[in-house]
Amino acid sequence: MSERDAHHVVIAGGGFGGLAVAQGLSGARVRITVVDQRNHHLFQPLLYQVGTATLATSEIAWPVRQLLRKRKEITTLLGTVSGVDADRRRLLLADGAELAYDTLVLATGARHAYFGHDEWEPYAPGLKTLEDATLIRRRILLAFEHAEREADEARRRAWLTFVIVGGGATGVELAGAITELAHVTLPDEFRSIDTRKSRVLLIEAGPRILPAFTPDLSAYAHAALERLGVEIQTGAPVSECSAQGVVFGGQALAARVILWAAGVRASPAASWLDMAADNAGRLKVSSDLSAPGRPEIFVIGDTATVDAWHGKPVPGIAPAAKQQGTHVAVTIKRRLAGDAAPRPFRYRHAGNLATVGRRAAVIDFGWIKIRGYLAWWIWGLAHIYFLIGVRNRLAVALSWLWIYLTGTRGACLITQAEPRGRG
Ligand SMILES: Cc1cc2nc3c(=O)[nH]c(=O)nc-3n(C[C@H](O)[C@H](O)[C@H](O)COP(=O)(O)OP(=O)(O)OC[C@H]3O[C@@H](n4cnc5c(N)ncnc54)[C@H](O)[C@@H]3O)c2cc1C
Repeated sequence: MSERDAHHVVIAGGGFGGLAVAQGLSGARVRITVVDQRNHHLFQPLLYQVGTATLATSEIAWPVRQLLRKRKEITTLLGTVSGVDADRRRLLLADGAELAYDTLVLATGARHAYFGHDEWEPYAPGLKTLEDATLIRRRILLAFEHAEREADEARRRAWLTFVIVGGGATGVELAGAITELAHVTLPDEFRSIDTRKSRVLLIEAGPRILPAFTPDLSAYAHAALERLGVEIQTGAPVSECSAQGVVFGGQALAARVILWAAGVRASPAASWLDMAADNAGRLKVSSDLSAPGRPEIFVIGDTATVDAWHGKPVPGIAPAAKQQGTHVAVTIKRRLAGDAAPRPFRYRHAGNLATVGRRAAVIDFGWIKIRGYLAWWIWGLAHIYFLIGVRNRLAVALSWLWIYLTGTRGACLITQAEPRGRG
């Protein structure tokens, strides 16, 4: 069989799920095309550190083409998926191109969502891409610059009020990091303002922060954040975001920096295939992760939902996407070997981790719960381990060590223009 006749697997999305499929198919008699709208794979768990000037963009992202360069059977393409013609087995790209496939894997992830209030996005950017992170970094650093030159007390206070909407891991991590930026990194650098007087407010609509963690760990994180200086409002849904600030729980607060960490919406794979989705837009896949009635199409990671965690939905986290990618690769290999029996996916949960500022974290491995300084070390080592390549591991470890010892951050750079002319 010539290489051109080999079974063609098209993978849409070079994130955690898509790359796990490519990795799992190593050695299989297949031709693979990976198509992504961006040229890089992104380690999203550390994105908040780019947003808060701790790490540089290149420390948490890798060109997909470079990662796959040694796999001669893989072609990497830059392109935006806009649909699927399942009857003709074609993946449709936004520029009009089509990719024929024998097996298709949709692993196009998710974006943040505004619960029907997309008009809030310009005022409350979310964190999903490197551009989002550098935009957030720009807004945070510019706020201090404006405050330094602002004579009016009320306006200065608004510049120094940072609101984070959403008390999940990303919101908690952003709140801790911004507080430390204001309290540890910046005080010596400004003359007219005391950056330590900045207000960082974390607003959560539900009854507690870190709802994915056990109540005792979430209570610990709450207390640790308050000790750092973060103000926390629970049970207070945000009803408005604007250039002036936020309205939450019926009260208005003037704030020039609002960050959105409150919800996600899956990429539109369900509408590409005209199939059922849950209320976050995740396509309801069969137990083997294939699209119902389309065994040659798999949908994995943040863009799919399946009750494969002891009967509960699989969480939208990186290990879940990776495990699904590996499962799909094994299924494809078995099918090519003549075994077409569907194999149900079973998710194995390793645990939940979140940092609370620069010296504390909470970890729930199920069999053991750890919090505080030790948890922070384990969190750091785990994240360094999961980064790709020795250079990035060393670079991130060195950046963290430097900040830990000196408190200064080299990534305090205001770059990237504002979208839609704001700021
Ligand atoms: C700020 C943040 C922090 C997080 N922290 C953690 C954490 O600490 N631990 C954890 O386990 N998980 C964390 N997650 C969740 C984790 O990153 C996701 O669950 C994981 O990335 C899902 O993998 P995926 O392959 O489904 O999607 P992704 O990794 O998001 O990959 C999707 C890929 O598809 C591409 N794509 C999207 N649409 C298109 C299109 N139309 N055409 C072509 N390409 C497209 C994207 O460019 C991207 O490369 C975090 C997520 C965010 C946003």
